[in-house]
This record gives sequence, structure tokens and C-alpha cells, in this order.
Amino acid sequence: MYDLVVIGAGPGGYVGAIRAAQLGFKTACIEKGDSLGGTCLNVGCIPSKALLQSSEHFWFLKNHSKEHGLKVGDLSIDFNEMMKRKEEVVKGLTNGVKSLFKQHKIDWIQGEAAFIDQNTLAVGDQKVDAKNILIATGSEPISLPFLPIDEKRILSSTGALALTEIPKRFVVVGGGIIGLELGSVFARLGSEVTIIEMLPEIGSGLDAAIQRQLHQLLTKQGIKILVNTKVQSANIEKNPIEINVGSETILADKVLVAVGRRPYTKNLQFPVNDKGRIEINDRFQTLYPNVYAIGDVVEGPMLAHKASEEAVVAVEIMANLPSKINYMTVPNIVYTSPEAVSIGFTEKEAQDTGLEIIKGQCSFKAVSRARCMGETDGIIKLIGLKSSGLLIGYHIIGPNASELAAEGVMALKNRMTLKEIGHAIHGHPTLSEGIKEAALNAYSEQIHF
Ligand SMILES: Cc1cc2nc3c(=O)[nH]c(=O)nc-3n(C[C@H](O)[C@H](O)[C@H](O)COP(=O)(O)OP(=O)(O)OC[C@H]3O[C@@H](n4cnc5c(N)ncnc54)[C@H](O)[C@@H]3O)c2cc1C
Repeated sequence: MYDLVVIGAGPGGYVGAIRAAQLGFKTACIEKGDSLGGTCLNVGCIPSKALLQSSEHFWFLKNHSKEHGLKVGDLSIDFNEMMKRKEEVVKGLTNGVKSLFKQHKIDWIQGEAAFIDQNTLAVGDQKVDAKNILIATGSEPISLPFLPIDEKRILSSTGALALTEIPKRFVVVGGGIIGLELGSVFARLGSEVTIIEMLPEIGSGLDAAIQRQLHQLLTKQGIKILVNTKVQSANIEKNPIEINVGSETILADKVLVAVGRRPYTKNLQFPVNDKGRIEINDRFQTLYPNVYAIGDVVEGPMLAHKASEEAVVAVEIMANLPSKINYMTVPNIVYTSPEAVSIGFTEKEAQDTGLEIIKGQCSFKAVSRARCMGETDGIIKLIGLKSSGLLIGYHIIGPNASELAAEGVMALKNRMTLKEIGHAIHGHPTLSEGIKEAALNAYSEQIHF
């Protein structure tokens, strides 16, 4: 009998299994895929970031090398090589998880788990007994009835990450994180990209000021963005596919359907709510106290770092440790160029909650390091409580925003005020000086603008 059996080896499941082993649990992880790492490592965060990196290098060499005094000869794309590199990055990391399992003596049971009872799982003919079970089965892409995903011309993110050639006309349905990132990859590589978003703005979840700038900057990069626009119908018999959005018909050689993901519980034989999610209490327990669930399969943002942290906390709770998660500090990052991040309250959320706020802002034009890099597009916007100056919202669009997110996480986690951030010494010249300036700006004490 195992102390813990984890179902799913995504960033939720594998991290939970490792933490359990560290705490002395006899642990197994059931994963039905051919490799460990789940959506994130195999067909999500990692391959998309590998392609974003390669395409960004190409974009830089094509559009910005001259201003740095660099002469580049004939520039062309070997897409095959680019995809091969992406595969190698994925393989390196998924094999890394396998080694970590060995190191921590975690058994990987390969196959699909189904519940027999709250202490027993079936994996094919095998029965696996467990004192505790952690469900971390993740999510899958949502399809649209008139755009059925075939992974040939109508793609989910998985298909888009496995294309064998750069499409001429690439249409993305859905202007959320996944759509914006994959749209950016192919726009940089030369596709004509159209993003169709039903909501009034792209980048749902980001602060409105960041959304507006993102929209403008992506448009400047040649991406056509249609907001407040719904796909009415599609003629998929035609080649190119004809997508009717009411006001016009858009032609597509490949369509990426990126309208969201839904929890994955197929064949698990476990109760779900009307949204298909597994219900949990604030200790990650399901209706059975020894069965826990975390990650994309439960409520909350579908993000790898949220899944990982929930897994650690859930396992520590199983071990009777006083562990908690602070959802205010979960960063929502978009790896476009420039990158964008939102943590904590957006201005609108703060207003809707009735909070009296102060704001501090700094443009990257006022940040000397951004000037050295030649990347001055974007802003930093901090939101604090008027009464105490306590930081409650941290928003950036600009160079390396994904890395700058860490300062916001630490400041929010440690309940810092804008004054404390503004009076902390930041290295010079760094992009993070913009954060100091934005914090000081809340009190009109900024130095550089
Ligand atoms: C294109 C793309 C880009 C993304 N980029 C980012 C990003 O940059 N940053 C970020 O934070 N998030 C990103 N995400 C989201 C992130 O991948 C997910 O939030 C994360 O993987 C969720 O982790 P999880 O462990 O809950 O589930 P998953 O990673 O989905 O893992 C679940 C695992 O469970 C297995 N499984 C399911 N059912 C069973 C069963 N019955 N028996 C055995 N095994 C089973 C599956 O095979 C899978 O391996 C991205 C997603 C996509 C699609």
C-alpha cells in the first residue's frame, strides 16, 4: 500500500509526488502519457516558450540588428531545425522529471487510472492501493462545434506546436494567453496572423492599461486583432477555410482554436460538478477526506505554477504541516513581445471591490537599462491601498516582465507597501529600477521623469 498515489504527472502531479517523497511518503505516480511532465512540459509552457525564443531571435535579427550596428547576411528560417530544438528542450526536461522520480524512489505506473473506491485505483488489470490519493489530471482544449479540431488544418495548441511548416494565413480564435503567444510565434516567422476575440479586449485577466498597450504593440508587429468579434460560422470544406465573423470573411490555411481549456476527468470514475471540475474544500480535499485534487482539474487559473504550489500545499496538509496558499500572489504572465504580467488586483477589480487606491506608474522610456536594450515599449503600474500604501496590484508590460514578476510576488507575499518598495535599493542599471520609480510615483517622489 502506498502512502500517496498521484494521478497525473504534470507540474501539479510530479511536484506533489516529489514533495511527498521528501516528507517520507511511499509514493507512486500514475501517468497515462509516454513521458512525464504533463501538458506543461510536453505540449504547453515549455514547447511554446522554446518557439517564442527562436522566433524572437529571428524577429530581432530581421528588424533590429541594424540599429545595434550588426550586419546580418541572408537570413532565413530552417523551421524543421527550430522544431527539432523545441523537441530537444522538451525531451531534456521530461527526462529530467524521470530522473527526479528515480532519485526520490517514486514509482511511475504507466497507464490510465480509474477509481474503484477511495483507497483503490485500477490501472488496466493492475490494482493500486493508497492511503491518500492526489488527483492532478489537468485539462484539455475546448473545441468549437463549427471548427472541429482535426490537428491538420483546425488545430488545438498541441497541433499548432507540432506544425511542419509555417502557415501563410494563421487565424487564431481566442485572444487569451495561448492564442496571443502562438499568434506571436507565427507572426514573427512571417505568417499573416489574425486574432479573433469575442471580448472587448485581448489578454483577459490583465489590467486594462496593460491590455490596451498589448493590443497596440501586437498590432504594430503586424498582427490583425479583431475584438468584440465572434466567429459566426466557418466553411471548413473550402481551402483556405472561410471564417465568417459577420462583418467580413477571413481566410485561413490553419486555424488555431484557443478558446479555453476544460478540466480532464475522462474515464476517472470520479464525481465532478456541473463545470466538469472536481470540487474541493480549502484543504484540497474532495468529498473523500483522503482524496485530494489540485491544478487545472480544480477551480482557479489554469497555470503551471498554481498547480505546483497547490500540490506542495496539499501534500504538506496530508503530512499535518501548517501549509497555505495565497492566491493573491499567483502571477498571470503572457510571453508575448513585450511580455506582460498581472498579479493581485487589477485597477478595475480594486474599484469594483470598493477599495480606495493609489497608483504609481513608470514608462520603460524612463528606465536607462531599457534604453540600452532598445526595448522601451511598456509600463509598470503598481496599485496600493490609499490608507496604508499596502501593495495590492502589480502590473507590467515591457521587457523581461516575466522575470520582473518575481519582485511583485515577493512584495505581495510579504505585504510590502509602495513606500517600502520605493525605498529599497535596486541595482543600476536594471529594468527593476522602473519598479522603484513606479512605487515612488504613487507619492510624486520619482526621480527620473
Ligand atoms: C500551449 C500552452 C501554453 C501554456 N503556457 C503556460 C505558461 O507559460 N505558464 C503557465 O503557468 N501555464 C501555461 N500553460 C498551462 C499549464 O500547462 C497548465 O496549467 C498545467 O500544465 C496544469 O498542470 P496540471 O498538473 O494540473 O495538469 P497537466 O499538466 O495537464 O497534467 C495532467 C497529466 O495527467 C495525466 N492524466 C490525466 N488523466 C489521467 C488518468 N486518469 N490516469 C493517468 N494519467 C492521467 C495527463 O496525461 C497529464 O500528463 C500552458 C498551456 C498550454 C496548452
